[in-house]
Amino acid sequence: MSRSRSPEQILAELARRRTADAPTHGGRVLSYVYDSGLAELDELAAGAAALVQPVNALDPTVFGSVASLERDLISFARTAFHGPEAIGSVTSGGTESCILAVKAARDLAGVAAGRGSIVLPSTAHAAFDKAAALLGVRAVRVPVDPVTTAVTVEAMAAAIDEQTFLLVASAPNYPTGTMDPIEDLGALASARGVPLHVDACLGGFALAWWPEPLPAWDFRVPGVTSISADLHKYGYAPKGASLLLHTDRDRHRAGFFATTDWPGYPVVNPTLLGSRSAAGLASAWAIAEYLGPAGFSALVADIAAATARLRAVVDDIDGLRVTGHPAGPVFAVTADPASTSPIDPHRWSSAVADHGFTLQAQPRYVQSDGTLLPASTHLTVTPVTAGVLEELSAALRAGAADARGAGAAQPPQALAGLTDAFADGTLTVDDALALPSEAVEAALIGAGIDPHTDPSGAAEALDLPAVIAAIESLPRPVTAKMLTEFLAAYGNP
Ligand SMILES: *Cc1c(COP(=O)(O)O)cnc(C)c1O
Repeated sequence: MSRSRSPEQILAELARRRTADAPTHGGRVLSYVYDSGLAELDELAAGAAALVQPVNALDPTVFGSVASLERDLISFARTAFHGPEAIGSVTSGGTESCILAVKAARDLAGVAAGRGSIVLPSTAHAAFDKAAALLGVRAVRVPVDPVTTAVTVEAMAAAIDEQTFLLVASAPNYPTGTMDPIEDLGALASARGVPLHVDACLGGFALAWWPEPLPAWDFRVPGVTSISADLHKYGYAPKGASLLLHTDRDRHRAGFFATTDWPGYPVVNPTLLGSRSAAGLASAWAIAEYLGPAGFSALVADIAAATARLRAVVDDIDGLRVTGHPAGPVFAVTADPASTSPIDPHRWSSAVADHGFTLQAQPRYVQSDGTLLPASTHLTVTPVTAGVLEELSAALRAGAADARGAGAAQPPQALAGLTDAFADGTLTVDDALALPSEAVEAALIGAGIDPHTDPSGAAEALDLPAVIAAIESLPRPVTAKMLTEFLAAYGNP
């Protein structure tokens, strides 16, 4: 057989391209990656994925391993989340679990086309907006208390109407790591006869073994009807594995799509995809088998200790503070308004990056009642964080010293005209959304945000605080269009 390059050459080329990536190990990136710090877990997951590489999880009756691995993972999660009779499906990730939770609730409730709404806190994950957009229902975002960043049961109750077919709460939420009051919301859901989905995609597999007492959030709470929890976050599996669990068999079935009404094979899909990989499933299963509850518990103990230490470091920095009431392995940092020298969190994260650690910038958000959730910097703590605590703490302090007095980051000067045009009405949001992609691309390039930069140096090429400031200064649907343009062009030749 003729071939243009040897496998060795091709893999060497791939390894070279991987050097453009942020470091996935070693605790230098405090978002996106959940590193257990156990090298043998990576090998185990890779071995498990290789064993199922040719399998098509589309049909577990042909590939029986798929059903048997799913059974084991659901049993494992039943114990972890105190739902001895919970049933569910393994999905490809948190977004898919959230979409399916909404679809299951919509279809079980028999919601008519064009009607139906879900009620969720401001801080619930954007995956629910995506679910609502795809499923043709409304997402009603309820303002959270800006101090605690948890939603109140009163605000959720006030948002329920005759179209509401699902309540959503987070345990914990992504933006601030705060848990919503699940017990009160469960009581509300029961009283109003509406199901309650608990999104534990982020922290479920950490909270289940959290060493400090937590308010109940799982299937022990009456009124909770489904839970999503990502195996590819604190389950330490490679990307491609999450769980969606239900208390009710009919709700689980309502998430499926099935048809025999075409000339091909009978289609019975528990998830959104058709043909699908079993790699995420097999590697998540292998890791759960290897760690067991005791292994998870030991890793979570390290995470909890590291989280407490880092929060103490931030509390000690004049000008910054931890926002909300985070209860698990993630938290967010904002400027401290009580300080005489508040530090801009985006300038801070950018300065911390110069000291070797990547934090995640989150733009400010105005809730539907006009209250503000300020700009913040997100930190996801993982087991490896414990190993770099001294260096990371020093970087957080040094970054604060660098950013102090710098003021808030400003959007690129080239976007000032655009901001003014929206402000004085010469450009409407609808007009901007109707612009062809070439015009949007030209605006981006004019602002110094060039999607044609070499992907191997993109992180350095972008002035992230300025990009976030731009997101904050323009109407959000417009920034979504601009970021879409950026990423679409970035991934194309
Ligand atoms: C990550 C996350 C999701 C979405 O999960 P993906 O795996 O990124 O698709 C949903 N909810 C919360 C709270 C999350 O943190």
